[in-house]
Amino acid sequence: MSIVFQGDAARGRIWQDIFAEAEPDLSFHHWPDVGDPEAVTYIVGWKPIPDLAARFPALKVMFSSGAGVDQFAPHMIPDSVSLVRMIEPGIAATMAEYVTLATLLLHRNFKAYANQQAEGRWEQIRVYPATARTVGVMGLGNLGQAALTQLGHLGFKLRGWNRSPRALDGVECFTGPAELGSFLSGCDILICMLPLTDETRGILSASLFVQLPQGAGLINVGRGAHLVEPDLLAALESGQVTSAVLDVTDVEPLPPGHPFWTHPGITLTPHIASMTQPETAARVLLDNIRRHRDGETMIGLVDLGRGY
Ligand code: NDP
Repeated sequence: MSIVFQGDAARGRIWQDIFAEAEPDLSFHHWPDVGDPEAVTYIVGWKPIPDLAARFPALKVMFSSGAGVDQFAPHMIPDSVSLVRMIEPGIAATMAEYVTLATLLLHRNFKAYANQQAEGRWEQIRVYPATARTVGVMGLGNLGQAALTQLGHLGFKLRGWNRSPRALDGVECFTGPAELGSFLSGCDILICMLPLTDETRGILSASLFVQLPQGAGLINVGRGAHLVEPDLLAALESGQVTSAVLDVTDVEPLPPGHPFWTHPGITLTPHIASMTQPETAARVLLDNIRRHRDGETMIGLVDLGRGY
């Protein structure tokens, strides 16, 4: 039995050390070294590997090293292989930090002040307390809930929208397409924390932006393909959206010359909102391998039909 790690070498070394102590009988390989391909039972990585079934006939579980799994199309995963996404406390903690920072940037007009500074202007914008603003999160999963908890500590009014019904303390919850309009109508700051699926692709579009209060802020930490980029540019132009913080874009890295690079209403980061923390993630992986061996349900098992 062996596990193949595909990804950042420094993270791989940390995992290898932890595995050597906890699972000495499981040989650990760094891609592209896979050892004996017929002995590979687990792969952990981010990028899809072609011809999984033919290359690794004994493969049982493909672990995504990140929380998202939209890079794995269902046809890439053989029927005999389970796909498991990463649910670990480090991803949630770093995502909650990022979303809190981005919300405060919008709430306290920091993009406007950055623009002013670049132009040598000194102009004050009225300050509102957090209690005067409503922040809405789309996608009330692990990360959405972690973010809402942090935002609640700052005093924001909170809303959430989700596919299936949720009841969260201090959060006004809305469910499904029928309640999307009511949800949006109260969001001064909207945060997308959805997985990318056929249902959510392109959801951040002109028809959604018009349902927000005039001058709303937008944060996208889901996937770039959630956003219809020309629609955001039009919404910024019209003032329907005043400012956006984007951690993800449709094409990554964002191509040179793309209008987002220099737009005065857009703050960009290079897909770093959260990152898997190797130490905590290794414990989660080890627990899932134990669960797999014991015939228990693994944490983060993906429903390929649903897409997340
Ligand atoms: P989860 O699977 O825990 O949560 C996803 C939530 O979205 C669920 O509550 C789900 O509802 C809801 N949802 C799914 N489809 C719909 C829909 N059509 N309409 C309404 N709600 C829907 O995922 P995580 O919270 O762990 O991660 C969310 C996403 O964050 C990832 O898929 C990834 O795209 C992104 N991400 C971004 C990172 C970054 O650095 N920018 C890092 C990590 C993740 P239900 O309860 O019904 O299942």
